[in-house]
Amino acid sequence: MTRKHTFCRICEPLCPIVATVDEAGAAVKLEPDRDHPVSKGFACHKGLNFLQVHNDPDRVNQPLRRTNPKGELPAQFEPVSWDEAFADIGQRLRAIRDKYGPDALSVYFGNPVSLNSNAFPLAASLGAQIGSKRNFSAGTQDTANKPAAVEAVLGTLNLFPIPDFANTRYLLCFGGNPKVSHWTYTSLHRPLSVLQDIIGRGGKVRFINARRIESAGEKTGEVTLIRPDTDVYFMAALLCEIHRNGLYDKAHVEHHGHNVDALWDFVSAFPSERVATVTGIDATTILAIAHEYATAPSAAIYMATGVNQGRQGTLAYWLLLMLSFVTGNLGRTGGDYYAKGFYPNARAVAPAPAPIVDLPSGPVNVVAGSLPGHALGELAGQGSDPIRGLIVLSGNPLLSMPGEAAMRKGFPKLDLMVHVDLFRNATGEYADYILPAADWLERAECNLSANAMQPQPFIQSVDAVVSPQHDRRDDWWIISRLQQELELPSALDRPDADMLGRARKILSKIGLSIEEIRAEPSQSILLPQAEREVFYDEVVFNPDHRVNCCPEPFGPAIERCHRLFDELSNEPAGIFKLISLRTNYMHNSNLANMPALKRDKHALNPLHIHPADIAAMGLAADDKLAVSNDYGLIETHFVEDESLQPGVVAMSHGYGHARSFGLSRAQAAPGANVNALMPTGAGSHEPLSNMAHLTGVAVKIGRA
Ligand code: SF4
Repeated sequence: MTRKHTFCRICEPLCPIVATVDEAGAAVKLEPDRDHPVSKGFACHKGLNFLQVHNDPDRVNQPLRRTNPKGELPAQFEPVSWDEAFADIGQRLRAIRDKYGPDALSVYFGNPVSLNSNAFPLAASLGAQIGSKRNFSAGTQDTANKPAAVEAVLGTLNLFPIPDFANTRYLLCFGGNPKVSHWTYTSLHRPLSVLQDIIGRGGKVRFINARRIESAGEKTGEVTLIRPDTDVYFMAALLCEIHRNGLYDKAHVEHHGHNVDALWDFVSAFPSERVATVTGIDATTILAIAHEYATAPSAAIYMATGVNQGRQGTLAYWLLLMLSFVTGNLGRTGGDYYAKGFYPNARAVAPAPAPIVDLPSGPVNVVAGSLPGHALGELAGQGSDPIRGLIVLSGNPLLSMPGEAAMRKGFPKLDLMVHVDLFRNATGEYADYILPAADWLERAECNLSANAMQPQPFIQSVDAVVSPQHDRRDDWWIISRLQQELELPSALDRPDADMLGRARKILSKIGLSIEEIRAEPSQSILLPQAEREVFYDEVVFNPDHRVNCCPEPFGPAIERCHRLFDELSNEPAGIFKLISLRTNYMHNSNLANMPALKRDKHALNPLHIHPADIAAMGLAADDKLAVSNDYGLIETHFVEDESLQPGVVAMSHGYGHARSFGLSRAQAAPGANVNALMPTGAGSHEPLSNMAHLTGVAVKIGRA
C-alpha cells in the first residue's frame, strides 16, 4: 500500500486528502490529511466518498458514438476509438462552422471544469476562440453577478473581497448556509469554526436568510428572517440608515470614492420604514442592524448563492461592497479584504461594449462570455438561426438551467452534440458523442482554483493518484484535441505539451516549482497572508483608483429595482415563494449518482412547506402536489419544515433524473427538476450579469 497526497476538487476549499493505493495500483481509501497545516484534517463526506464516483459502474469509460436517432430515448451508443471519434467530430464541427459561421457552434461549460485549473482557461475561452458569441456557463446559475458588480465598482473581474474571519468582531452573512454549502469564493476548511471563534472572542454573527438555516446557533450566530429575494432592499435600507444617521466616515468615502452622491440618492428611496413590509424585517430591527454593523469595532460582510440567484444579484453585491466601503471596513483588518493569494488574480479590465445576440424572445447582451442560460433552450436547434453544434464540457445544462422543455425539443435537432463528462447524464441522452473525462483522482494539478480565496494562502501540487482508468482522458487533453480539430491554436501543437504548463508558468513567476512544492510535507507551501490595509493603493483598478459608488451602467437596473419594489409592495397575499434549498445530500446535479448522497430519505427532493401552510391547505402526509407557475409544472411529495416562514417553500435543484438512463442510482430515485419552474424568455434573467432567476420565484401549489 502507498499513500499519496491529493486534494478534493468538488468545491472551493479544495480539501487536502490522503489516498491509499493498493499493490495493484487501485485507489482504495480517501482520508482527510490530518497533518496538513491549513486544513488540519478537514474534508467532508462528499470528497471522502469520491471513490464511489471514481469506481462507479455507470462511468463512461471510452468514447461513445450514438447509434439511434437523437429523438429516441434511451440513447444507444457504441464504443469507438479516440481517433475515430475526433475524426468525425472534427469534420462535423468544421462543416457547421464553414457553412453557417462560428455562431452556429456553442460551448457550455459546467461547474466541475471550473475547478479543474488545468482545463478551466481552455473551457472558458473555447467558444470565443471558435469565434462564437453564443456560449453558456454554469456561472449564470450561481455567481455571475459578483464579477459583474466588481467590474463596475472596482474595475476588475476577479476581485472578491473575503471576510477577515480571523480578526473581525462582527459578521453579517447574506444568503449563505456554511454548514451545508461551505463558503463561496472563500476557501475555508471547518466552515463553522470561524463563526464560533468570532463569538468566542466577544463578537457577533448575524445571518440574513429566508429560512432558519442549519448554520445558526448559540455559538455560530442568529438568523434574521427576510422575505425571499428582497436582500437588495434590506441592504439599501441599511445604507440609507447609515447615511441619515451619520454612521459613516465622510472624509474616507469622499477621498476613496466617486459618484458617492448618486449612491446616497439611490438608497434614500429605501428608508427602513418603507422597506419593512417588503423585506418582512421591521424598521426598528433594520435600524438596529445598521447601527451594529456600522459601529462594530470591525465588521465583515458576506453574500452567497441565496442572494446571487435572485433577480438583482449584481445590485445586491454592489450594495454589499458599499456597506463595507462607507463604514471603512473595506480593506481593513477585521473587515473584508483582497486575499491576494499566490498570483495576482485581479487586474484591470478595459470597459468594452457587450456583444448583443438576438434571441427569439429579444436581444440580450453577452456578459463575461456567456449568454443567459434560458437562451440555450431558445437557440439550440430552434428558430431561424439556430445553434447547430453544441459542445458540453462537464455539465448538465438540461437540468441545471431553466428551460428543460425547450431544450428537450431543441437538442434532438442539433446537427451535433459532443458531451465531455464522467457520466452519461440527462443532457448526454441527446449527445452524438460522449467523451469520457478523467476525474480528479486521475489528474495532476496545483490548487490554483483556490487562489485569492484563501485566508491562509497555500499552494499544493499533486500528481495523479492513479492514471486515468480505462480510456478516460483529462478535460485538458480533450479540449486541446477539440481545438486541433477546429484548426485553432492548441497546446498539443507543441511537442512539450504539458497539462501543468500553466501552473509551471505561474509558479515560476513567484520563484517556485512543482518539484519544490511536492518535496514539502503534505506537498504544500504556506505563503504569507495578504496585507489587509493596501486595498486603495493596490487593488482598486478604476483609472482614478477610487471606488465607483454608483456605476453609470447600473442606471437601467436601478430603474428596474424601483419597479420591482413597487411590484413586491403590491403583491397579492397568498402567493408562495419558492426558494432554492441546498442540502448535504446533493451537489448541483453532478454527484447525483453517488450512493453516499443518494440514500434513504435524502434520495429525493420533496417540496418543503411550513406546517402552517400544510394546515391551511389541509394536506395529508402522502398527498402528491402539483407545483406550477407560468413556466412549468412539476409533481412532487412534500415534507413539513419549520425552518421556513409561512408562504415560503423550498426545494433542492439537481434532480429530475427520470430520463437519466445513464445514471442508474439517480434514475431509480429521480426527484423532480425544480428548474422547470424557473423563469425563461424575455426579462427572465438579471441583465447586468445574465444570472438566471432561481430563487424567490412565485408558484401555485395544489394537489396533483
Ligand atoms: S468541502 Fe468541498 S473540497 Fe472539501 S471535501 Fe467537501 S466537497 Fe471536497
